[in-house]
Amino acid sequence: MTDAPLKLFNSLTRSLEVFEPVHAGEARVYTCGPTVYNYPHIGNMRAYVFADVLGRTLSWKGYKLTHVINITDVGHLTDDADAGEDKMEKMAAEKAQSIWDIAEHYKQAYWADVRALNIRQPAQWTVATDYVPQMIEFAKGIADKHCYELESGLYFDVSTVADYGRLARANTEEGEGRIEAVEGKRNPADFAIWRKTPPGEKRQMEWDSPWGRGAPGWHLECSVMSGAVLGFPFDIHTGGIDHREIHHPNEIAQNQAHCCTNGLDDPKNSGAKIWMHNNFLVERSGKMSKSSGEFLRLQLLIDKGYHPLAYRLMCLQAHYRSELEFSWEGLAAALTRLKRMVMAVGALADVSSQPEVVHPKFAPALAKFDEAMADDLNTPIALTALEEALAVKNVAPGIKRAVIEDMDAVLGLDLFNLTRTALRIRPRSATITEAEIEDALARRKQARTAKDFAAADAIRDELSARGVEVMDGDPLGWEWRLT
Ligand code: AMP
Ligand code: ZN
Repeated sequence: MTDAPLKLFNSLTRSLEVFEPVHAGEARVYTCGPTVYNYPHIGNMRAYVFADVLGRTLSWKGYKLTHVINITDVGHLTDDADAGEDKMEKMAAEKAQSIWDIAEHYKQAYWADVRALNIRQPAQWTVATDYVPQMIEFAKGIADKHCYELESGLYFDVSTVADYGRLARANTEEGEGRIEAVEGKRNPADFAIWRKTPPGEKRQMEWDSPWGRGAPGWHLECSVMSGAVLGFPFDIHTGGIDHREIHHPNEIAQNQAHCCTNGLDDPKNSGAKIWMHNNFLVERSGKMSKSSGEFLRLQLLIDKGYHPLAYRLMCLQAHYRSELEFSWEGLAAALTRLKRMVMAVGALADVSSQPEVVHPKFAPALAKFDEAMADDLNTPIALTALEEALAVKNVAPGIKRAVIEDMDAVLGLDLFNLTRTALRIRPRSATITEAEIEDALARRKQARTAKDFAAADAIRDELSARGVEVMDGDPLGWEWRLT
């Protein structure tokens, strides 16, 4: 059941809009990808879980999806607003490695997280350094009318396009105050689309251009890669909510300059019909960061024994436009919920699915699921619909399996491949083996059956001393967990 018209929240108009594709039957989506100078934190990965759910929903609704995610390996400065150093050059200098090696290492680490979170592969990963000639061509095309040269590079004059900054809704002094002054800029919000290598310096990554040897600006990269692969206008552009402030308004300005300078009352003039932004994952102490506090990488969660899909479920439990606070308790709760689902699915493990028949008992859950996903990807409600479907009794298992598979194709929890064992909390630092634990638990069970409670308690204490908590009261029958 996929009848409900898909409504998505367009940040450009700040309203829900019914999705109407630019090309009939197709959905073309561009997602701002990572800058591969460091490991992504789990907040970054929330952005890709969101984009994945969007892509899965579009596929499920029958659109032929072309999803592009870029890999930024040049040009992104330590401050989005045109100040600071190139993140890649900085890390390469710190590690005394080549940028290419840094980029490769962190790209692979990012892809490992993508796989662990069951994020589908996009049709294409576009890598910024593969598109430099196209970036120079794009910049040449808009330079005369929209740009001016300063000693430090080629700058985009934001007053040359209509409605600059509409996406940010922040053409205020406060917004502009965040942008560092560069001498000679015509407007505070003007930004570099080509940055010249300062005289006497050498960058690891630099290219010749009509504006001197240097490197492209980060905003230029996304305009060029999205337009080159998807064609302007395409359907949906996504990113984290921070991109609503600077990166995407600047992309939009470039796209307008490239395509038509018309204003944004027609969102298509921005290069994409719909701009979507996920809200942040935050820590109790505030903004998530790679440099301060505990660096919350997905691998840290895995090392502490949590299955990565528990984190995916944690993301889905919040609407993508709501802020989500990370906590270990929250993650543990998501894991327990996932276990319950996996146990319910366990009964369907060996049946083959019968997608052709839908039992009326599933109709309410299916309708609820469809309406939830169609309502701007309301995954928290969709999850409850999935659980309602899992709870349906006295129906042919093949029919039930088809329903659950259909819902999971959208949510991506990989329910049919997960097992109870895979979901056990199993920290990497644990020294005890599972066989040893199972053996001790079997002995303990025998002791309890024989009413030898002293012996049973002794085994429990012995396990506890080795970091294994025995959970007699666990309604799920998960007899132990490592602490
Ligand atoms: P970056 O690699 O810094 O360009 O970020 C990759 C993606 O993660 C971008 O779409 C950001 O907007 C997004 N992002 C950054 N921090 C967070 C966070 N704490 N929660 C959710 N998304 C984030
Ligand atoms: Zn981007």
